[in-house]
Amino acid sequence: MEQVQEGEKYMNAQILDGKKTALKVREEIKDEVALFEQQNGKKVKLCVVIVGDNSASKVYVRNKRIACEKAGIESQIVELAVETSQSELISLIEKLNNDNSVNGILVQLPLPGHIDEDAIIEVINPEKDVDAFHPFNTGMLLSGNPAFEPCTPGGIIELLKYEGIETSGKHVVIIGRSNIVGKPLAALLLLKGSFGDATVTVCHSRTKNLKDITLMADILVAAIGRANFVSQDMIKDGAVVIDVGINRVDDPTLEKGYKLVGDVNYEEALTKASFITPVPGGVGPMTIAILLRNALTAAKRQLK
Ligand code: NDP
Repeated sequence: MEQVQEGEKYMNAQILDGKKTALKVREEIKDEVALFEQQNGKKVKLCVVIVGDNSASKVYVRNKRIACEKAGIESQIVELAVETSQSELISLIEKLNNDNSVNGILVQLPLPGHIDEDAIIEVINPEKDVDAFHPFNTGMLLSGNPAFEPCTPGGIIELLKYEGIETSGKHVVIIGRSNIVGKPLAALLLLKGSFGDATVTVCHSRTKNLKDITLMADILVAAIGRANFVSQDMIKDGAVVIDVGINRVDDPTLEKGYKLVGDVNYEEALTKASFITPVPGGVGPMTIAILLRNALTAAKRQLK
């Protein structure tokens, strides 16, 4: 896609269609999964563990199961009661670590309050850690040799790649410093080479003069968890805007009573940005595509 010149006026940003791009990525993975199975007589298998009945988590797990099915990846969903103890969960993960038919293990977050999430993530065999949350994998990423791509940040980079939006030399401002989005995205963007090589600023709730910083962004990423937080006056003319946020806001006109919106005021951003990801249909679908790719990568490595 043609790059837009700085200084132009952008009355209508181009939409970065994550749904469409994710489908293309998933088609590629499907072909590779079929080849893997044909060459090795073995299926790629992902096990997803969910504890409790958080409704959003259940939707995410169902979407992952469907995506696996479509890509030819076997999925096993283990649903545990909310009162499952930490030691019971650890025993299950250890069993999955030792099960050679399972290539990838994903524990759906958040976990109930009585379970220490960090302790659980540390039990997952790093070779099966398809979310790339294990400290070994975060260390590999920070040292410049990621073993797995963190799913959401990897999905953002993949979307930029597909649209031909280079990051080299660009100033990327990320609002949010979580271990799931902000920090690993910064690490990916700092990698040397194509679709890395960015100058990265990471902001958070203690950042002073946030607007002054976001106005310097060539690429602005919002991963905050606050509906419509990023307003028009925070966006530089022609910036690429990546909206990671998924927020439920009440909407009595809809049957379900709510709608999903991002962290960016979409209507306002359309008049300033050159490119923008919608919510839903932007970063979310890309996250799942990268998860599938990580499951395939894990299966390939485990053969060796
Ligand atoms: P966290 O709650 O873990 O992190 C939010 C970050 O935003 C924190 O670093 C926090 O700062 C920062 N923040 C909060 N308020 C402000 C503020 N007023 N000014 C500046 N920074 C602020 O969220 P996640 O990273 O897990 O998720 C962020 C959003 O992305 C959520 O809506 C989530 O649902 C969505 N998400 C979407 C995914 C997808 O696939 N599309 C995947 C993962 C998440 P501090 O650290 O100081 O508290």
